Amino acid sequence: MTKYIFVTGGVISSLGKGISSASIGKIMESRGLKVSLVKFDPYINVDPGTMNPYQHGEVYVTDDGAETDLDLGHYERFTSAVTTKFNNVTTGQIYNAVISKERRGDYLGKTIQVIPHITNEIKDRIKMAAQATGADIVIVEIGGTVGDIESLPFLEAARQFRLDEGYSNVVYIHVTLIPYVKSADEIKTKPTQHSVGKLREIGIQPDALICRTEKTISDELKEKISLFCNVKKTAVIEARDAESIYQIPIIFKDQGLDKLILRHFDIHSKTTDLKDWQRKVVDRAINPTHKVTIAVIGKYIELQDAYKSIYESLIHGGIFNDARVVIKKIDSEDIEERGAGNVLKGISGILVPGGFGYRGIEGKIEAIRYARENGIPFLGLCLGMQCAVIEFSRNVCGLKNANSTEFEPKAKHPVISLLAEQRHVKDMGGTMRLGAYPCKIKSGSLASRVYKAGMISERHRHRYEFNNKYRAILEKKGMVFSGIYPGKDLVETIELPKAAGKPHPYFIAVQYHPEFKSKPDRPHPLFRDLIKASLKVSGC
Ligand code: GLN
Repeated sequence: MTKYIFVTGGVISSLGKGISSASIGKIMESRGLKVSLVKFDPYINVDPGTMNPYQHGEVYVTDDGAETDLDLGHYERFTSAVTTKFNNVTTGQIYNAVISKERRGDYLGKTIQVIPHITNEIKDRIKMAAQATGADIVIVEIGGTVGDIESLPFLEAARQFRLDEGYSNVVYIHVTLIPYVKSADEIKTKPTQHSVGKLREIGIQPDALICRTEKTISDELKEKISLFCNVKKTAVIEARDAESIYQIPIIFKDQGLDKLILRHFDIHSKTTDLKDWQRKVVDRAINPTHKVTIAVIGKYIELQDAYKSIYESLIHGGIFNDARVVIKKIDSEDIEERGAGNVLKGISGILVPGGFGYRGIEGKIEAIRYARENGIPFLGLCLGMQCAVIEFSRNVCGLKNANSTEFEPKAKHPVISLLAEQRHVKDMGGTMRLGAYPCKIKSGSLASRVYKAGMISERHRHRYEFNNKYRAILEKKGMVFSGIYPGKDLVETIELPKAAGKPHPYFIAVQYHPEFKSKPDRPHPLFRDLIKASLKVSGC
């Protein structure tokens, strides 16, 4: 029988509920159990696909083409669970489904209400995720903070869930903040007492508290939290700020959170340790031998979350190569103002990520030119590949005004353009080329050395494609089209074995998003080899 863990958040947002949920997943897996993780997002958008990164951060794409919350990225990086459209549910999806059913007549004769119709739909989604994966344990993270109006139906559904499934099949874990007040030199438990109080008003008594804190929580304070929040002292888990997020599962396990959960579920399983994870991931993340600086040239660089999976993938590449990756976040408009040579001095590798719209494009193109001409290892992702094609067309092939029709609909040389099937698409939501597509790798290419495979599968999220009319012209000048989607003969990877008359150490760009499949103990090969090449360039 499937068991369920609900993870709620209190006091403030950004407490790391996603990483906490993923870490709980990891420690459950360490006990030999199969997990699946579901994120509930209380906004009315059907998915985050049409949201600005300033609003939402990264949009994480699953194999089946769902545009989802970035917490699903944490779930896949920490556990072996593969997420799908069942793993991210929004208020918009719930209402969409309920209203469609009402129109169809499924509820004929009834008044449709939040309780029970909306809450039933929410509970059905949890069950669907359980059935789709056959997981032993389904971890449900409820977005937002307890006390928000928007998340109430989700919390109400979580409350009912224990009633339906039985006490011993459901665990509630509340992630909360124990703030440090400098003037008093004390950490304070009152906000946590209030947020647990708020949960109890809804009818949920948490079984464990994950307490985010800058300082150690003394035994005495744990007793106080336990008494006022009605939670066992051993269930007050201290979650101090860690040097690496990948330490969190070990921190939880050391405090017996896995035992506590399994005791509640009455599951007897063998204990395995996380020694391999400690050795292969955590130790190397915290104490690496080498250091390398990689520039990420974006337009949302001031946001922590906009390129989440990319930053993590670079760190994974560093873990593998025993190197600390210093990520220099560079605003592409800064390159437009000050020039690539000035901004990129001392950089050992350059990554140009995905994006939309014209702002900042010329700066990205200049950065790529700098990487190409100066033998700096370069990895371009999605828009980053499109910019690399524009740069090469303009500066090497003499196609003066080469551009993407996304930026210049009537471009003289539309080297990146829309496929005919995209030209008539009017709806913006869920209509890009999305999800996993196969790609055939050319033997003897850099891509084939990186992947060590002839056929790969990677996730996509874009509308525009390389325009095959220009393939022969670019090929003649030395660009290698090393990865092709055979179904439609679409260019998926480009590379330059030689640039500016010399062999280039690492110049590769891809139309897809490899960052969604990298894991700390299994780095994506494109990132692994970018770091390797950058270390070499920097003399390590
Ligand atoms: N804007 C480009 C397109 O739609 C690239 C998208 C991306 O980088 N994800 O094709």
